[in-house]
Amino acid sequence: MNINCEMARDLLPMYKDKCLSPSSEEALREHLEGCAACRRYLHEYKARQKDDILIPPGDFADISRRLRRHRTVTEIAVGAAVAVLAAYAVIKTLKGGQSHE
Ligand SMILES: [Zn+2]
Repeated sequence: MNINCEMARDLLPMYKDKCLSPSSEEALREHLEGCAACRRYLHEYKARQKDDILIPPGDFADISRRLRRHRTVTEIAVGAAVAVLAAYAVIKTLKGGQSHE
């Protein structure tokens, strides 16, 4: 199977993650063997990926902890808002009932 440069570059992310089917991987390998431009592209792609994950493990744990805390605060805020609305609805219903008497 022959693929062009555009197809090869579309496949590179999956090739890097080893998610390609054997036939697609073979086609991409064949293309890379004959195409210096795509080999360079793959090299740059890998280098870029490495830059993206340069978060030290400690920082990542801290970020996920912060996200969890943020979510808890949001849940409390939403719960409080619902409670206030429910109380308001009950009070309004009670007052409405009284005014009819
Ligand atoms: Zn190419």
